This record gives sequence, C-alpha cells and structure tokens, in this order.
Amino acid sequence: MIWSILAVLAIIAFIIGRFIIVPIMKRRRVLRNAWKCSSYITPSISEDFDRNISVKSNVKVHQTCNCFGFKKRRRFYNQNDIRRLCRHIRKELARSKLIDHFDPLSRRIMRDRIRDSCYKKTELASMEIAFGYHPNSDFVRVFTRRAQEGDPAEGPFSGPYEKFVLDTVQSHWIYGIPPPLSREIIQLVAEMFKEIRGKEEQDENLNYDDME
Ligand SMILES: [Zn+2]
Repeated sequence: MIWSILAVLAIIAFIIGRFIIVPIMKRRRVLRNAWKCSSYITPSISEDFDRNISVKSNVKVHQTCNCFGFKKRRRFYNQNDIRRLCRHIRKELARSKLIDHFDPLSRRIMRDRIRDSCYKKTELASMEIAFGYHPNSDFVRVFTRRAQEGDPAEGPFSGPYEKFVLDTVQSHWIYGIPPPLSREIIQLVAEMFKEIRGKEEQDENLNYDDME
C-alpha cells in the first residue's frame, strides 16, 4: 500500500517538474538572455501580407509558428527580432518573396539559419555589419561585405555580404580567408566582448546556456 502511494507521489512530482517547473525555468533563462542581448530588428512588413498558412507543422506567418523551436525559444523575442524567424517562417518568407523586403545583411544572416543567441549590428567604414555570437563562446560569426574591384581600400565595399568566423582567443579567421578590414573588425569584436563581459561581472547570476 505504502509503495503504491509513493509511486503515485513520484509520478505527480515528475509531472509537476517536467511540465511546470522545467518550462518555467527555461522561459526565465531565455528571457534573461533576451534582455542581455539587444534586439536585432528586421524591417517590418505590411499587415496586408499577413496570413495563416498550413504546412506540415501548421505554420502561421506574422512571425509566429507552432513548431518546437519557436515555442521553446524564438517566441520570447520581440516582434521583428530576427531571432524569431524559425526555419518555417524563413521558408514562407522566401516562398512568398516577402524576403525581398528585407535588407541584404538580414537576408545573409537568415541564410545562416539564425543560429546565434545574440546579434549585434554595427557600422564599419560606412557599412552596416553584424556579429552573431554567444556571450560565453570565443567564436563570433561576422557578416560583412566582400570587397570588389574598384572599391577603395578603406571601404565601403560593394561586394555581397558574406559570413566569416573569428576565433577571438587566437584572433584567427577559421576558414582562412579574413574579411576586408579584418583588423578593425577584430578590434570592434574585442570592444563588444569587453563591454558584455564587464556587465557580466556585475551580474554573475546570468546564465546563457540555452542555445541548442
Ligand atoms: Zn517553425
């Protein structure tokens, strides 16, 4: 008798933990993370384009989806934050050509599947560039334009946006090809990390381990 009561209690405790406490903890962690990294806002698209579309996983567009990744993490970001765009929304934006309303830098980050927990847009040589990073990782994805023939050496550059990966510990570009103005970019990334990690020391309870 006592064993069956204990078994029932264990099952109840498991259900409360798994379906109530764990989701609350995860939500809090994502929100803290979202608060720490500023939003990367994409251009807004007229509501006239908004519609519900049923595909395999029952997707709605207006930057809302029913998929697991969206419910778990992406929905906590602000409207028009690039991190809301799960693969279903991205696919729908491409299919309906609404992606043409996005600027080239945002489109290049979307092509990279928006895998980072933080994005920072900044300016270099009168160009918009962006960094994708995780506050606890030493690797940073840099999205910047390639130089084309005829471009001034100091920029701005007119080539397409590309992704470059920087190992910030070694100041080394992972795939060998550095972007134009690579020294200046390394400097900008160092300043960004200095600022982030300085803030982190002030609030050591922050936790970033939510990216999957
Ligand atoms: Zn989705």
